[in-house]
Amino acid sequence: MPELPEVETVCKGLSKSLLGRKFTNINLLRPNLRIPFPENFSTKIINRTIKDITRRAKYIFIHLDNSQVIIMHLGMSGKIIVHPSKQQILKHDHAIFTFDDNQELVFNDARRFGLITIADINNLDQHPLFKSLGPEPLTENFNTKYLADKLKTKSIPIKPAIMNNNIVVGVGNIYACESLFISNISPLKAANNLNNVEIKILITNIKQVLLDAIKSGGSSISDYVNAQGELGYFQHNFNVYNKYNHSCKICTSKIARITQCGRSTFYCPTCQK
Ligand SMILES: [Zn+2]
Repeated sequence: MPELPEVETVCKGLSKSLLGRKFTNINLLRPNLRIPFPENFSTKIINRTIKDITRRAKYIFIHLDNSQVIIMHLGMSGKIIVHPSKQQILKHDHAIFTFDDNQELVFNDARRFGLITIADINNLDQHPLFKSLGPEPLTENFNTKYLADKLKTKSIPIKPAIMNNNIVVGVGNIYACESLFISNISPLKAANNLNNVEIKILITNIKQVLLDAIKSGGSSISDYVNAQGELGYFQHNFNVYNKYNHSCKICTSKIARITQCGRSTFYCPTCQK
């Protein structure tokens, strides 16, 4: 599943190829993905120019030269490919946008949990997709005071707490496991049992793990957009993620795997308390 760093990389790649481009055509090959495509979609976007491309949580915002924003989400398996137009339509291509420089953006999604919609930028805060989202992890709004306040009433384990989008967005399973390991905090520890020092360390490490992932994705931007669009999970040397039964890099204990809220958690039972 694409995580925040991958989506950030996609946004940077799209910006490079599409800023200033004007939509000339849209070809929808089915009526919907997770939700229906917008009504009169082509009327809303044809002849509009792309002014900016940004990200909120794992949503891609394509800002047009009016107050409208095209919103895309890659879901479980979505891919965005930008290439010269008139390419062969492939299996699972669902929406093809053509631009005035004869490039096209193809939204391909085998499992169709992705989403494409359009909204007014002035209403985004109240939009059903965004109104209950927590802060971006890489902003100053995600700080010790904020998180301590959010966690003080939560007796659930810390790992699902930091993966909860209402608390903070974009901390996916990989990054939750890795940041808890680096912070020496057990994923099983009750969220309201972390002290402020632990919360501060955890926040610092969440930011660092995400920044490192974005940095390692940066080098693959041009490949991503101009080649075949594989979303390439960054080949990190993870400490614990997917390392069940490997030796911990710090203490040589075996890495454990448990299930929390339906997701695999990897951690070192010795280092993480
Ligand atoms: Zn260890």
